[in-house]
Amino acid sequence: MRSHDHVVLIGGGIVGVSVPYHLTRADWSDVALIERSELTGRSIWHAAAGFHVVNADPTIAALQSHTIGLYRDLQAEGHGNLGLKFTGAVTFAGTAQHWEWRHAALASFRTLGQDKARLVSPDEIAAMCPIIGAGGIHGGLFDPDDGYLDPYGTTHAFAAAARATEADVILHNRVLALHPAAGGWRVETEQRTIYAEQVVNAAGLWPRCRSWAARRLSVVWGGCRSATVPSWANAAVN
Ligand SMILES: Cc1cc2nc3c(=O)[nH]c(=O)nc-3n(C[C@H](O)[C@H](O)[C@H](O)COP(=O)(O)OP(=O)(O)OC[C@H]3O[C@@H](n4cnc5c(N)ncnc54)[C@H](O)[C@@H]3O)c2cc1C
Repeated sequence: MRSHDHVVLIGGGIVGVSVPYHLTRADWSDVALIERSELTGRSIWHAAAGFHVVNADPTIAALQSHTIGLYRDLQAEGHGNLGLKFTGAVTFAGTAQHWEWRHAALASFRTLGQDKARLVSPDEIAAMCPIIGAGGIHGGLFDPDDGYLDPYGTTHAFAAAARATEADVILHNRVLALHPAAGGWRVETEQRTIYAEQVVNAAGLWPRCRSWAARRLSVVWGGCRSATVPSWANAAVN
């Protein structure tokens, strides 16, 4: 474990492990991920881990589309078995309004460069899945790239990819406190204190340090910048 890092990531869930994967591919070095227990120790352990592109927010749809492509890449890179299953799925439209929204969603798919999704009629839906009573349905949006994966295998594959590029993955080391320091942050952990230029909080929704994250850091995707909210600096971390 180094005493100085360019970036420290807090949390070894699916979000935490995917960040060093991206950073090391953008030629960032000295990246450390710190996990209080084991990888997949919290939410991701419980996930059904279904994935789909369709979303009312086009930005989220683009992010989800990117992620599905990323899973394919990660699987092809051979860092582990993600258990990827592309089952395909239909999103139904039970009202005229929802049917209109499915048309809009299809347009979003096209802008994302995805030409495999298509609108399907109630008869096609019934043929795809005979147990569905398609009466009263206006139609649906079928996306063959919907599916599910093994969240444990995927988290470990991201971590293996990060380790292969010399990111440090440190387990059984809870982050206890964060303090602004010259040129970055002083990160107090159970094992030792680390100085980092940038900190990314990926500790999930549930730990008490989520409020600390909201008060102390604003993490900007793309630039991975952290910033202090002055009035909340030096808040306690649990
Ligand atoms: C029942 C259930 C079903 C779900 N189904 C789906 C689904 O089908 N599809 C889907 O996309 N999503 C699903 N989700 C949501 C998905 O699981 C979460 O969005 C995702 O796991 C969040 O990942 P994360 O990395 O942000 O958080 P987490 O998995 O919670 O990871 C956070 C990590 O941070 C660590 N940590 C916390 N505090 C500290 C600290 N102080 N120091 C060091 N480490 C720390 C924790 O130990 C943990 O490992 C589901 C969730 C649940 C609960």
